[in-house]
Amino acid sequence: MRFVLSSNNKGKLEEISKILTPLGINVCTLKDLGIEMQEPEETGKTFKENAKIKALAAYNLTGLPTIADDSGLEVDALGGKPGIYSARFAGENVSEQENAEKLLSELKNVPAPKRTARHVCCICCILPGGKEFFADGIINGSIALEQRGDQGFGYDSIFIFDTARTFAQIPIELKNKMSHRAKAINNLYNKLKSYINSGEV
Ligand code: IMP
Repeated sequence: MRFVLSSNNKGKLEEISKILTPLGINVCTLKDLGIEMQEPEETGKTFKENAKIKALAAYNLTGLPTIADDSGLEVDALGGKPGIYSARFAGENVSEQENAEKLLSELKNVPAPKRTARHVCCICCILPGGKEFFADGIINGSIALEQRGDQGFGYDSIFIFDTARTFAQIPIELKNKMSHRAKAINNLYNKLKSYINSGEV
């Protein structure tokens, strides 16, 4: 069964493929199908709404089973910000480095015990006929006092996932086992497995 990922991000493709392959699902990108898609505007108010906007955009183009994810970082001391605005926290078209620096500067006067945060991921999967599945994943942690480590991307260098290490200080394989995205994909795996086993497909 071929599924389309509504993203051309190779890292996401690998992470998702690895978990869904045992279900007989082969995930490809729009680029693999020779389709150019203009990224839809993420006008939703939640991760779930934005994941659905991205999934629908690719589903409407291909008619194939489609998967899309939306993710971000919620910081308690900032009332849940940057949240769905994680990719554009420091403005439109800024670097991930600038986003991480802005977050550190907004937390300048916040002491370590109050720097709690979580990475959140929501996946939307749409099947031909329109059946929708949503799957969430969360990893709790805190925001470091300064950037540490050189692995990963986005806010990895300032997100402490255990008592000491940031996501940027561990091998990508380890991060991919425990991340918010890994949890959401595993959750989707369970939902799709039950659906396939129910014989409704
Ligand atoms: P998107 O859902 O791929 O658009 O991601 C939104 C933003 O959330 C990214 O630009 C990153 O800044 C941040 N983000 C999502 N997942 C991660 C992660 O695993 N590590 C660090 N930052 C992340």
